[in-house]
Parts: sequence; structure tokens; C-alpha cells
Amino acid sequence: MLRILVMLLAFSGGLYAAEPKIETIGDREFAFDLDGSRISIEIRDPVLRRKKDILLEWVLYSAKTVHHYYGRFPVDSVHVKLMVVDGGKVRFGRAFGGEKPFVRVDVGEDVDPEALRRDWVLVHEMVHLAMANVPQEHAWLLEGLATYVESIARAQRDHLTEEQVWRYFIERMPQGLPQAGDRGLDQTPTWGRTYWGGALFCMLADIEIRKLTDNRKSLRDALRGVLDAGLSMHASTTAMKVFEAGDRATGVAVLVPLYQKMKADPYPVDLEALWSALGVNLQNRKVIYDDQAPMSHIRKRLLKS
Ligand SMILES: [Zn+2]
Repeated sequence: MLRILVMLLAFSGGLYAAEPKIETIGDREFAFDLDGSRISIEIRDPVLRRKKDILLEWVLYSAKTVHHYYGRFPVDSVHVKLMVVDGGKVRFGRAFGGEKPFVRVDVGEDVDPEALRRDWVLVHEMVHLAMANVPQEHAWLLEGLATYVESIARAQRDHLTEEQVWRYFIERMPQGLPQAGDRGLDQTPTWGRTYWGGALFCMLADIEIRKLTDNRKSLRDALRGVLDAGLSMHASTTAMKVFEAGDRATGVAVLVPLYQKMKADPYPVDLEALWSALGVNLQNRKVIYDDQAPMSHIRKRLLKS
């Protein structure tokens, strides 16, 4: 039984041979191997370097979170540059693609383990590594995916509770809805439509894939298929090619038809009705679940696998 369980875990991509060992290279660079991917970390600032133990643990945790969601780390190698800024938080990050992807993150000099435990920035940037470069009009795909997958991936690793994710989604997702005068996602490059309009696209796709496959497949399988097709941040492509690869992986036509509906049309969504159908609602910022709701079986699985 145990052996079967271990095999199942291995097939689901949740295991690597051994806990990665962090190597020290020179006085400002560190590295570890995660399931065949090389992650190097550069900390130039001496103040930040004094916190290297907690910082390297945070990079490793973030990489493992992304590995767990995608079943692998998305690229063969990435260089993570940690830059010092004022304060005690992780402030800002950016991922750069191409042949040698790298991620730059600004970290406050007073950062502590609690701030790193709460951080979402590095997982967000590492999710960017799992998607090809696409033309600027599809920026919503990149930012929406990073916004949505970051929450789901962290919940799957128990770094966010279900309560935190649903509260976050219910409070923030309305920012992705079309405003007066907005057009489709490809034609409305506002902050709300880019980050939360993109996240709404991802959530609708995740729900629809689960509906059509009896909860057996999800957006995660589609995104793993996109990586299988070689469309990580090493590559450049179009949104349509990404969605075709995703639909091929799940065997159901969801991403392409949803993209056709949302790319040029404002496509308003009745979020209140959707939360009710999923059986999740907010009352005084507390999440209330309704297990009798028609899609509660999908909501229960959404943050799990
Ligand atoms: Zn981003």
C-alpha cells in the first residue's frame, strides 16, 4: 500500500530524489538543484547576506511550491537576484525570460521569517517562468496566471488557508470585471483587467475544465501540458498557441473557446451568482461555505489538486 502511494506521488510529480542541498559559491552566490533544475541566488548586499539562511530557505520554499504545482520546476535554470531596499517586506519582483531566465526581487533590509512566510512575490515571479513570452496585448494572460496560480499553489502547500484564498478571491476578483467603456482582455490594458481580469479568466477555465472532466482534470493539467509543449519562459509564442496546447493536454475544449469569448468582448461575469453556485460567500469578512450548492464539489477540490 505504501509503495503504491509513493508511486502515485511520484507520478503526480510531487517528489524529488532528495531534499535539495544549498551550496555556497564564492561569497555572494548560492545555488541548489531541484529535480534537475539549477536555481542560483545572488545576494550582493552585506546586510541582506547576514540573513542568508532565512532568505535561501524562502527561495527554496518558493521553488518547491512552483515545482509542486507544475510537477517540475518550469525552466532548466534561473538566477535569482535579491536586491536590498528599505523596510521589512518583500517589495517588488520581476521575471525576465529568454535563454537564461532570471528573477529580480527587492527585499527589505529588516525582513524577518514571518514576512517571508507571508510573501507572495517570489512565487508569483516563478510562475511567470512557466509561461512563454507573449505579445503585449496578452499581458493579462501572464499576470492573471501568476495571480491565480500563486494563490492556488501556496494553498496546496498549506502556506495559505482555504479561508484566506476565498476571502482574497471574493474581495479582489471584482477588480477584474469590465468597467464602462472596456473592451475585451486583449484590448483593455488597465491594471484591474490585466491582473484580476486575467485571474478571472483562469478561475473560469479551471472550473469549466473540472466540470467537463468530472473533477478529474484542472487548469493545472492544462498548464503542465503547456510546459510539455515547450512553452516555458524560454520560448515566445501567442496566447492562442498556449491555449491550444492546454486544451490538448486536458482533452476538453475550454481555453480556446473562453479566449474567443473574452479577448474582444467585455464579457461581464455575475460573480455573486458564481460564488453562490460554488457555495462560498463572505459575511463580515468571514467565509461561509454551503455544501449543498450545485458546484460545491468543484470548490472543495479547487485548492487541493
Ligand atoms: Zn507578474
